[in-house]
Amino acid sequence: CADQALYCAKECGRNQFYFFNEQMQSEAEKVAELCNALQFAIENREFELHYQPLVCAKTHRILNVEALVRWRHQGKLIMPDEFIPVAEASGLIIELGRRVRLEAMKTLLDFHALGIDVSMSVNVSTFEFWSHDLQSCLISSIINSGNELKPDGFPYHKLTLEITESLLMKEQVHLVNSLNKLRELGIQIAIDDFGTGYSSLSYLKEFPVDTIKIDKSFIRDVQDQKQAALLTAIVALSRALNLKVTVEGIETCLQLAFVSEKNVDFIQGYFFHRPLEKDALFEVLTANLKGESSNPSML
Ligand code: C2E
Ligand code: MG
Ligand code: MG
Ligand code: MG
Repeated sequence: CADQALYCAKECGRNQFYFFNEQMQSEAEKVAELCNALQFAIENREFELHYQPLVCAKTHRILNVEALVRWRHQGKLIMPDEFIPVAEASGLIIELGRRVRLEAMKTLLDFHALGIDVSMSVNVSTFEFWSHDLQSCLISSIINSGNELKPDGFPYHKLTLEITESLLMKEQVHLVNSLNKLRELGIQIAIDDFGTGYSSLSYLKEFPVDTIKIDKSFIRDVQDQKQAALLTAIVALSRALNLKVTVEGIETCLQLAFVSEKNVDFIQGYFFHRPLEKDALFEVLTANLKGESSNPSML
């Protein structure tokens, strides 16, 4: 391409060349910078968790909260979509993921100690499953947590790991074993962003999972008949396979009314709660425990 400056055309075996243009170079520099900043941020504990409730579809009571990581960097709050891909590509996700899980598990125990019975969901990158044994990693981080957490007494059945379909695309014995080991502890597995991964549905019979979390794109426009039909079909499929169903991204009364007729188990979305800092979550959970509804139109 005539207007692209050729910085480097390094021969790498017969007939193979790498071309870098200016734009690619500046992008590579940005990624390298972000990578260094992430490394620094991990060491300096710049990451924090916010928690977004999942409510029971029938009662609107909070049953579960999802831990969502944020990066507090130079006074700004940076959202995960901006740094998770680089953390994954650089391998830093391993350490970040470990810390996120540990923090989320501590929060879960803190709430239980206060008499608040709630479950915790944590997102896990595909990359984390490929690169290590998550069950051993989880147990060893509990052991190394300075005795705050104890592997034997931990309420694993109150923990859900959210994985994405991309993890399940490749049939891997290793992965089935890995999920089974987590489930033996009592941990639940949810498939996040379901319906966006373009994968074969047959994985639903191969892999041991508990919950399907239907992606928010399926409920954005519930007046669209085709979209409504897809949502109905996914719920029916999940029911037939004995899986629980969460719908995420509920923002409006109309969307809520629509999913309320669909026999789903859990609902998550800005309509009920945005992701909250731990203190704010505590207040919401306490109010919830006293019987206050999460439904803003009933307050
Ligand atoms: P996700 O796991 O699907 O999380 C749901 C995302 O949708 C969150 O964005 C949440 O704030 C947002 N959301 C919730 N309700 C609504 C709604 O009603 N409307 C709209 N438009 N959005 C809603 P967030 O926190 O920016 O996270 C984005 C993604 O980053 C997550 O998607 C997850 O894939 C990833 N992520 C977050 N925390 C972690 C983490 O600790 N580890 C890993 N590996 N990934 C994480
Ligand atoms: Mg999630
Ligand atoms: Mg999702
Ligand atoms: Mg996602």
